[in-house]
Amino acid sequence: MRLPHVQRFHHSANFLSGILPVADNVSPEVRSQMMSGIRNRNTQPELLLRTALHRRGYRYRLNVQGLPGKPDMVLPKWRAIIFANGCFWHRHDCHLFRWPGTRQAFWEEKLNANASRDAHNLEQLTKAGWRVGIVWECALRGKHSRKLEDIIDQCADWIESNRMGLEVRSNE
Ligand code: ZN
Repeated sequence: MRLPHVQRFHHSANFLSGILPVADNVSPEVRSQMMSGIRNRNTQPELLLRTALHRRGYRYRLNVQGLPGKPDMVLPKWRAIIFANGCFWHRHDCHLFRWPGTRQAFWEEKLNANASRDAHNLEQLTKAGWRVGIVWECALRGKHSRKLEDIIDQCADWIESNRMGLEVRSNE
């Protein structure tokens, strides 16, 4: 899956300016990791995912404010929620994640806080009776990504099952 570079840069530039007042101080390595992140809404991989699910007939609501973690996709009919997680921002243990080489304390605190929040949100959602699926960025893009059709098959199986959790990651 190839992403248009110009467009990705455009999204990410907006995204960075909102979250990091000192984006200019970020090393090229960190910057490229951030840019690959899909914490930003409406990035290409997430769009592909939800367009494909929609084509299969699944209906969802986007970025639901009232639920913990503001889930990317909520499928009320199936009592299911899907997050499309960026591997950098959500500290995934995969090839797309690397600890930044600069401002280490800052990043450690920030990314660890993100991970704690994710765990807390998952617990809250589960307690409220939601089933929660996570599709990782590395499944959707990068050198170990999987075929979109396979990812959608896996999501569809899960949505229509009564299993609580789903995690889709790269073939690494
Ligand atoms: Zn990953």
